[in-house]
Amino acid sequence: MSEMNDAFRDSIGTVTSEGKRNWIFPKHPKGKFYNARTIVTVLYLIVFFTLPWVKVNGEPLFLFNILEQKFILFGQIFWPQDFFIFGFTMLTFLVFIVLFTVVFGRVFCGWVCPQTIFMEMVFRKIEYWIEGDADKQRALSKMPWNQEKIAKRSIKFIVFFSLSFIIANYFLAYLVGMDRVMLYVREGIFLHLSVFIPLVMFAGVFFFVFWWFREQACIIVCPYGRLQGVMLDTNSIVVAYDYVRGEPRSKFKKHRGEEEQVGDCVDCFECVKVCPTGIDIRNGTQLECVNCTACIDACDAIMTKFNRPIGLIKYASESNIAKGEKTKFTIRTKAYTAVLVLLLVILGVLLFSRKDIQTNVMRAQGMLYQEQPNNQISNIYNITMVNKTRKDIPITLKLEDPEIKGTVKVMGKSLVLPKEAMGNGIFIIYIDRDKLKKRNNKIRIGVYSGNEKIDVVKTTFLAPGS
Ligand code: SF4
Ligand code: SF4
Repeated sequence: MSEMNDAFRDSIGTVTSEGKRNWIFPKHPKGKFYNARTIVTVLYLIVFFTLPWVKVNGEPLFLFNILEQKFILFGQIFWPQDFFIFGFTMLTFLVFIVLFTVVFGRVFCGWVCPQTIFMEMVFRKIEYWIEGDADKQRALSKMPWNQEKIAKRSIKFIVFFSLSFIIANYFLAYLVGMDRVMLYVREGIFLHLSVFIPLVMFAGVFFFVFWWFREQACIIVCPYGRLQGVMLDTNSIVVAYDYVRGEPRSKFKKHRGEEEQVGDCVDCFECVKVCPTGIDIRNGTQLECVNCTACIDACDAIMTKFNRPIGLIKYASESNIAKGEKTKFTIRTKAYTAVLVLLLVILGVLLFSRKDIQTNVMRAQGMLYQEQPNNQISNIYNITMVNKTRKDIPITLKLEDPEIKGTVKVMGKSLVLPKEAMGNGIFIIYIDRDKLKKRNNKIRIGVYSGNEKIDVVKTTFLAPGS
């Protein structure tokens, strides 16, 4: 890191010297990164507000019903029996986060995190529309409660709370499905007070975060932000100030004719004025930086004004800056990226190759084999099956090994697996004694729905032995 004064570490931008909240009024960012983030936000919101309406075979595309333990990803229902996939997903997610952060820093925070998207690109934009840019907001906050202030704050309150309530409803739709949310709406709040009251409370939490708590969520609450210190290293790509080029900074270089001795930073503080977390990125990578890129845009505009190359603040690693190199993919970055892609591929294969019917066969407890009158040997089995699909499935069982001529007889009624449920039964396998050479014979049982083989289960068949 640059040899800078570390005094900035003694305080944080959002707290005054008296320990009170220092309200941040970030200037409206403008520039190519902000435009790109606006496009990403529009796509993000389209996806967020559309997905709960999308259905596959009458079921939501995504559902995270924790209470009823029903999870649907890309239209596929996941059961508690799919726990290993869930576990692997969590593990992949953790490794992904660590590797992704080591390589790309907090790109996630700036471009994808719902907190940043909703705060900076939705609620903050609305605030600019209602209250104006930073200077006007500052003036408004100092104003007595006159007509203008009451009107603007009232409009902001109504819009912020309405939007928070809509967002809370959509989160509920991701939990219980849009059909159920629409049912609650049709039947009215009095019939569903137990849902409506928590919903309003959640809307209240969202409102509180976007109205007042704001950047504190990233600085104080978010565990991901607090882990940056251990995950980032000098090769991580972050939003960084090129101190080699920028220092020594000087406001007055033009007037003093000392252009050669000073760096490119004209100390205009534009990068600080736009920062939603109130930091000065020139002090180096800091916990508060959510990589929102607003300071890049602000500084690029200043550099353009002063006829200097843009990129004094840019996506770069500490090593890039120290060595004066351009940001590039190192071998390490490529290797980590390859691991990330591999993990995602494995997870994708696991998700999409997962069986719709899960079968478990065990020989009946305490039973060895039974000698049958027609020179056959029989074994009794218990079968447990989980039907993860949305239709009832009639099941037939067949022996898969052609050299063992045997028959399978299901006890009681024929096996029909009800949709989205577990079923079990008992069946007996009969095999001619002369086909059984050993005491312990490995056999494979095919599980069929009509002519479609949906699973094969391996088990053993006990015989008297030679
Ligand atoms: S330092 Fe720059 S990238 Fe980081 S939060 Fe502030 S404006 Fe955004
Ligand atoms: S915007 Fe650029 S030139 Fe202005 S203070 Fe920040 S780093 Fe220096």
